[in-house]
Order: sequence, then C-alpha cells, then structure tokens
Amino acid sequence: MLFGALEAGGTKMVLAIGNENGEILEQTSIPTEDPSVTIPKIITYFKDKKIEALGIGSFGPIDLDKASKTYGYITSTPKLAWANYDIVGNIQKELNIPVGFDTDVNASALGEATWGSTKDVASSIYITIGTGIGVGVYQNGSLLHGMLHPEAGHILLSKHPEDHFEGVCPYHPNCMEGLASGPSIEKRWGKKAYELKDQTEVWEMEAFYIAQGLVSYIFTLSPHRIVLGGGVMHQEQLFPLIRQKVKELINGYVCTSQLNDMDHYIVPASLMDNQGIMGCIQLAKNELQA
Ligand code: ADP
Ligand code: ZN
Repeated sequence: MLFGALEAGGTKMVLAIGNENGEILEQTSIPTEDPSVTIPKIITYFKDKKIEALGIGSFGPIDLDKASKTYGYITSTPKLAWANYDIVGNIQKELNIPVGFDTDVNASALGEATWGSTKDVASSIYITIGTGIGVGVYQNGSLLHGMLHPEAGHILLSKHPEDHFEGVCPYHPNCMEGLASGPSIEKRWGKKAYELKDQTEVWEMEAFYIAQGLVSYIFTLSPHRIVLGGGVMHQEQLFPLIRQKVKELINGYVCTSQLNDMDHYIVPASLMDNQGIMGCIQLAKNELQA
C-alpha cells in the first residue's frame, strides 16, 4: 500500500512516496514559494501516484482542532503568503484521499516512535535544534496537541552569565530558540555553526541552554526518552556536554533507571534525517484508519 508524505517547511517542501513499513520509495523537494505556485506543484506530484492517504507535517503555527472552522490551516505564521492558508483543504479537494496533519516536529516524534530510537518506549519527545527550535511530544500512541500545539522551543531560560547576546527571537529576549537555534549561534559568534566546531566555549554555552530546556521537559512531561535532531545536533560533541549538564541541573531530585543511563536517555535522531518524512507516512496511515 502506498502513502504520500509532505514535510512542509518555510524554505522547502519535501515530497515522498512510502509504503506501510515506512520505506521511502521516492523523494524530491521543491522550494517554498507562494501557495499559488507551490500547492499546484504538490498536487501534480501526488496526483497519479496511487497513494491511499497523505500525511503532512507542517511548519506553523497550525490549527489541529478538527472541530475548528480553520482546521488544517497554517495560521499566524510570519511567512505572510501562508498565513491563514487552508493547506489541508486545498490539497484534499484535489486528491480526494484522507489527509493526516500535524506539526513538523510532531511528525518527527512520530517517525522516531514508530520506526526509530523511541519505538520501544511509551512516551518520548523529539526536539529539533535547527533554524528554529521545536518539540514534538508522543505519549501512549498519541501526539500532544492541547489548546494549539506545544511551542516548547520558546520556553524562557536563564541567561549564561557570560552571554551578552540579545537572542534572535523577535518575541522573547531570553527564549530557547532565541538563544540556542542555529541562527543564534551564528549571530552570537559571527561564523557558520559548523565552522565553530573546535571552539569549546561555543558548545559549552549551547549545552548550557539546551540542557535547561531538557530539564524543564523532563520535569513537566516525564518522557521515557529524549531524541535530539536538527542541523545543530550534527555537532556530536554536544551530546556528552548536554547529558552532563542535565544531570547537574536535575541535581538528584528525580531518580529513575532511565536517568541513570543518560547515554540511552538523551539520544540522536536515528533515521538519517528521514524521521520527519517517515512520520508523515505514519500520519497518513493513521488518517486512513481513523
Ligand atoms: P531547518 O531547521 O531549517 O529545517 P536544519 O535542521 O538543517 O534545517 O537547521 C539549519 C540550521 O542548523 C542552520 O542554522 C545551520 O547553521 C545549522 N546547522 C546545519 N548543519 C550544521 C552542522 N553540521 N553543525 C552545526 N550547525 C549546523
Ligand atoms: Zn521566542
């Protein structure tokens, strides 16, 4: 059985066809232009592929409330051509198949939970540290939506005493995305993040911020395992630094077998950067069964 997968990003759209085992049979990407240009290309790609359902993991904020009049819309995005745009409706009316819809990070959380490094645990979170920071939350077979959906990349952090950088988030002077995203690293240190590999102070500070976020998620959501993905996490030296800082910040207050085995508690994404698109395949499968 074939499924369509669409990872809708602010700069590019990844389109793929996969089967029920999460195997990607073909994949392509196109730049994200105005919906009037991009949506017809997406429809043309999927139209004759004999897919049973489509899963979309989208940038946001998006409306995930099926009882809402604007369900399936991208809502208040700063990417203005896409603000208040009915992405699900406009695709569904042309393809006439079930369309599953969730945030891009929830799709990645689902991909890892279905086929990747969290498939053996009941609850997990997936955090992307890239152009932005986002968190997907998976618990007992479901993805957390709540009122809107979590925007846990914008939680507020304590500043590092030696950090005089003002952050890159236009909304919050000291949120995690503003202080620890790829663009924040590049603006603070004046170089591309991958060019800073050997500067230990860069990654000490990065781990200081990421660990604060993780400890908040551990205390509030109590996940059985945490997956860290996104471009910045290709700096593998971050993992031991983050694990150590998380231990320090928890300071012995929560004691579980999982936290005693940090190397298997805080782990990298395991699906070769296909966790998002594979999660979209699972969103499609779930929608077909709904
Ligand atoms: P996006 O978040 O746009 O989907 P990515 O997850 O690739 O895409 O994130 C892009 C960000 O990650 C950029 O700010 C970039 O500098 C940073 N980045 C990408 N690759 C690396 C790397 N190898 N090391 C450090 N930072 C990286
Ligand atoms: Zn913010």
